[in-house]
Amino acid sequence: MTEAYKLLIGGAFTDAASGETFETMDPSTGQAIATVAKGGPEDARRAVEVARKAFDEGPWPKMKGRERAQYLLKVADLVKQNAGHLAELEARDAGHTIRMAKGADIGMVISTFRVFAEIAGREVDEEPLPRNPGSMNYVRREPIGVCVGITPWNFPIQMAAWKIAPAIAAGNSVVIKPATYTPLTTLEVGRLCVEAGIPEGVVNVLPGAGAAVGEELVTSPMVDKVAFTGSTEVGRRIMQLAASNITKCTLELGGKSAAIVLDDVDFDYAIDGALWGVFFHSGQVCSAGTRLLVQGSILDDFVAELAKRAEAIAVGPALESSSDMGPIVSEAQLETVERYVGIGRDEGADVVVGGERAMVEGHDGGFYYRPTVFSNVDNSMRIAQEEIFGPVLSVIPFAEDEEAARLANDSVYGLAGGVWSGDNNRAIKLAERMRTGTVWINDYHMINPRFPFGGYKQSGLGREHGEIGFNEYRETKHVHLDLGGPVRARHPWWDLTVPKPVPGSLGSDAEGSKPEG
Ligand code: NAD
Repeated sequence: MTEAYKLLIGGAFTDAASGETFETMDPSTGQAIATVAKGGPEDARRAVEVARKAFDEGPWPKMKGRERAQYLLKVADLVKQNAGHLAELEARDAGHTIRMAKGADIGMVISTFRVFAEIAGREVDEEPLPRNPGSMNYVRREPIGVCVGITPWNFPIQMAAWKIAPAIAAGNSVVIKPATYTPLTTLEVGRLCVEAGIPEGVVNVLPGAGAAVGEELVTSPMVDKVAFTGSTEVGRRIMQLAASNITKCTLELGGKSAAIVLDDVDFDYAIDGALWGVFFHSGQVCSAGTRLLVQGSILDDFVAELAKRAEAIAVGPALESSSDMGPIVSEAQLETVERYVGIGRDEGADVVVGGERAMVEGHDGGFYYRPTVFSNVDNSMRIAQEEIFGPVLSVIPFAEDEEAARLANDSVYGLAGGVWSGDNNRAIKLAERMRTGTVWINDYHMINPRFPFGGYKQSGLGREHGEIGFNEYRETKHVHLDLGGPVRARHPWWDLTVPKPVPGSLGSDAEGSKPEG
């Protein structure tokens, strides 16, 4: 018997207008675990109307940031209280190993709500502008309005928090559309927002197909901002659609990040780090260090040890605490990984380890792939240029730091990157040359809701997290209070009491004074 989940619209769980449902499955077993109401365009319109009403007429945007912060802290507490259930649900729906779900996902969700509560409580809504004779000027930071969040399947509960927390902290209402593969924990976070007392209509969750629901949301004239995380291909489409109403958008897109290993590094440290950088969540991570640039002088020894340790990674069902790496999210994604490994072989790269599906006893229906390392990769190959989104590492040699920087930047993407080195100054110099939104030195995946995250080039637009991310959810208004007397004194050419020259007569083209700007 599978569980049934519904849409969250206006603080209540409801069926889809069409009455349709879809199944979501456990990638560890290939079995359905829940039925979910399948939102359609009609539901999208209703969710947006409800969110609009909550924004235009409700108390949420009028509250002070510090008042809203109390609700976010309450959500964080509720997530903590429900940590076991949420972690297990994420493991079952998205294939996150239970160790990762408990150790990384839930903690990140809690800290995201707490950090944005702190920012909302601290950030000022009004700031004076420089003195200007005859007037008083200030800037107000106001919520944008109705925000749509569209999220991918790889980190469902974290992505829900990344979209909901800053949006509502800034006073907006939101409609979140999770990926169809992994809707469950986003619905649970929505439920906890309602339980925390956040007014109805401020947080809405609408599972449904990307094209049908997503496009209805993105093109709605009642939506003020779209925050999208997903592939570059769909991000491009979102940007085009958002253009119809000049809807603001932030885009967190794909990546093909380079982790650079310099010859002065502690071997042991860098090998574990490189494995963590690429095989965390089976490589289904936007910022994964999928290109490992290794200095030629240490290449052979490094790759031999790397392969040995990759071989030892335990691939298994997500709920087993002994599993280091869980399943791939779906059969379709598993086939994509297989296809790319085939492309790599055809391009002439060598499989050092892996290169095939992993068999997991008792879980024949699951979608498992072995950690795979390619050597002899040229940076121009498709496996080094295109996002695979699976446990596949391409090792690329380089001779000098200069060449490492050039290779790292030779990508349409620019999301993240890493440098492994025993020399901090050398590593920092290299980090500063990398055209990516984040560079980690001697660690990887250190995403923190206090620090900005986002992409250069085709990896995205705008930033999430920190004050920068918070301000992506606020408008800037300049208020001018004039203290300088009658308008005509400052704009004499607009003085309606002065007789107008007759057109064509002398002086009709005389220069008048102009207002500034
Ligand atoms: P995807 O682009 O296929 O889908 C993302 C979301 O967009 C889903 O909810 C989907 O239903 C929706 N969607 C699809 N077509 C749409 C359309 N026409 N209009 C509106 N919405 C639409 O991505 P995915 O396969 O779910 O996730 C993997 C991708 O996400 C990878 O490319 C990965 O790099 C990226 N990602 C990026 C970040 C980041 O922060 N930069 C984080 C996680 C994942």
